[in-house]
Amino acid sequence: MKSFTERLAKHKTCPFYEEGACCRACYMGPCRITDKAKEGVCGATDSTISARNLGRMAAAGASSLSTAALSISGSQNMQDWFSSQEVAPLAEEKGLDISRLLPPERVALLNRLHLTPRNVQREIVELLHRVSIGVDQECEHILFQTIRMSLGSVLSAALLPMNEKTSMVDVDTSVLSMEKPNVILFGNVQWSNDDRVNAIRIDSLLSLETLLASGLVDVIFCDKIPLEKSVKYVAACYHTSCISAVSASSEVVAKAIENQVRRTQILNFKGTISQPKLSAGILKDALMDSNIRGIVWLAGCIDPRLEDTRRKIVEELAAQDILVLITGCSVNQIIDTGLLHQPIAPVGEFLREFCEKTGIPPVVYLGSCLKEGAVIKLLNEITKAAAIGDFSSLPVGLILPSWRSERNISLMLGALACGISVQVSSPLPVNSEVRKFLENSCNELILGHLLKGDASILEYINRKRERLSLASSLSVYVPKTSIHEDDMDKIAAAAFSIYKELGYGLSADVYKNALVVELQELGLQSSMVKVPINYLGSIISENEELLVENAGIVCIGKDAAVKERLKKALSGTDKEQGMYIVFDKEMLMIGHIDLTKRSVRGGV
Ligand code: SF4
Repeated sequence: MKSFTERLAKHKTCPFYEEGACCRACYMGPCRITDKAKEGVCGATDSTISARNLGRMAAAGASSLSTAALSISGSQNMQDWFSSQEVAPLAEEKGLDISRLLPPERVALLNRLHLTPRNVQREIVELLHRVSIGVDQECEHILFQTIRMSLGSVLSAALLPMNEKTSMVDVDTSVLSMEKPNVILFGNVQWSNDDRVNAIRIDSLLSLETLLASGLVDVIFCDKIPLEKSVKYVAACYHTSCISAVSASSEVVAKAIENQVRRTQILNFKGTISQPKLSAGILKDALMDSNIRGIVWLAGCIDPRLEDTRRKIVEELAAQDILVLITGCSVNQIIDTGLLHQPIAPVGEFLREFCEKTGIPPVVYLGSCLKEGAVIKLLNEITKAAAIGDFSSLPVGLILPSWRSERNISLMLGALACGISVQVSSPLPVNSEVRKFLENSCNELILGHLLKGDASILEYINRKRERLSLASSLSVYVPKTSIHEDDMDKIAAAAFSIYKELGYGLSADVYKNALVVELQELGLQSSMVKVPINYLGSIISENEELLVENAGIVCIGKDAAVKERLKKALSGTDKEQGMYIVFDKEMLMIGHIDLTKRSVRGGV
C-alpha cells in the first residue's frame, strides 16, 4: 500500500478545484467555469459555485467533528442553543445556553446577524439544502449559513468536559516496532508473551493517544474498564482495533497481524508532553499585565507537503513571547522541540519568566482536535475575567498552517464566527469573491477575518494590544496572589453565574446561599465561621462569614463596604487571605486580600 507522501509526489492539483470553480451539484454537470463559460448550466456564477463547494466541505467537516463530540458527550439531543438572557424561564426545556460559551456581546452580535446556530444538525441540513440546485444562488447567503453551521460545530465540541488534571508524559515511538505488529496493553490485562508481536504496557491515556498518532499501533488490548471514547475515536481514524479483555491473547495476536499490513502514514517522534490545567485568571493577568505578548492557537491536520512549517511557526512565536495552544495531531511535528515541556531557547525572555513562575510550558498541548471547544471555553473565561467584552478584542489568533481535512475548514469558519481572526498558510480552494468575503466582509461584520496570505500574526497581535492600551514593552511576570488560583477562579465564575441568574438588589444572605449551592456543584468544601466583633476589648457581637477551602474567607455584600468587612474578618480570625464579592447594580466586583503579602487586589 502506498503512503500519502508517495502518491502526493506524482499528484497535480486540478486547476478548477484550486478556484472552487467546478460544480457537480446536479446531473446536468459537472460544470466548470472558464473564460468562455462564465456560468453553470443552471446559471450559477463562479462565486455561487465556489461558495457552494466551500459550504459542502465545511458541512462534511462539521459533521465529522460534531458527531464525535455529541457521541462522546452522550448528548444526542437535538436541542437548540439559546441565550439565557432571552428565554431564562424556559432554560431547562430549551436546551443549551450559548451565553455560557460565548461572551454576551458576541451572542448579541450573532443574534443581530441571525448567525446563532439552532443546533449543529439543523444547520448542516439547512446548508446542504441551500447548496442544492435551484435553492439559493446568492454567494453571501450561502457563506453566512456556512459560518452559522461551522459555529454550531465548534460549540458542539464545547459540550465536552475540560481536562481537570495536569499530566506529563514522555513519548518515544521507538518503543513501537516497524517490523512486528504492535499491541498496546492498557489497564490490568492478562497477557501471554508471543514473539510474533511487540507488546508494550501503557498506563497513561495521553501517551496512548499520542502513540496512536504514529500510525504504528495495530491493536489496543484493554481491560474491562472502558477506554475513553475519545481514544476509540482517534483509533478509528487509523487502522487500529480496540479489543477488550474478554478476548483471548491469541485473538489479539491474530488481529494485530491482520492489521499490520493496513498501516499507511507512519510518523516517528520522541519527546515530553506536558498537559497542564490552564487557569483563565493566570492567562488573563499575563495578557493584561503584558507578561506575554499574546496567545496563538495552532490547529489543523498535518499536510505531508508542509513538513517543517509548524516547527518554524512555533519557534518564531515563542521567541516573540507568544504563548501557543495546540489542538490536534500537529503536536507530533513539534514534540522534539522540547517546548511542550519547558521554556528552552529560543523562547523570549518574558515568556520564559512567565513559564518558569507558573509551570506552564511555552507551547501547551490541549489534546485532540475535539478540544477545539475547550479553547473557546477558555477564551470565554479570559474575556470575562479581563472584562473586555468580546474575543475580537483579545490579542489572540488562530493559525492553520495547512488544512488537509475538511474539519479544518469548519474550524476556520467557526473561529471567524467567534470573532477570532485566522491565518491559513496553504491555499484555500475558493475564488476571488469568496476570498474577499472571508478577508474583508467578515472583519466588518463579525470582527473576525481571514488574515491575508502575507499578513503577520505578530503585527495583528500587536495591533490588538495597542487597542487595549497595553504597554508597548513587555514586563517580567510577578505572581499576584498566593490564594489557590484555581479555586479563586471557580469562585469568581460561580459569582458570575449567580449575578447573571439573580441580578442585583437581593440580600447578602441570598447571594451567600446561592454561592454555597454553586460551590457544592463545583466540589469545593465550604463552611461558616464566626467572626467576633470587638468594642473596647469586649466581644459585643459575632458575624457569620463563609469559609472556602484554599480561598479563605469569602465575604459577600451589596456595596464596597464588604472589603472593610473582609479586612476585619481576617484580623478577627487566624485566616490570612480571603475574597470579597459585591453584587452591585452596575457590575459584579470581585477582589481578594492576602495578608501574607500585604496585598489587596480588586477586579470586575
Ligand atoms: S447545479 Fe448548476 S452549476 Fe452545478 S452542476 Fe448543476 S447545472 Fe451545473
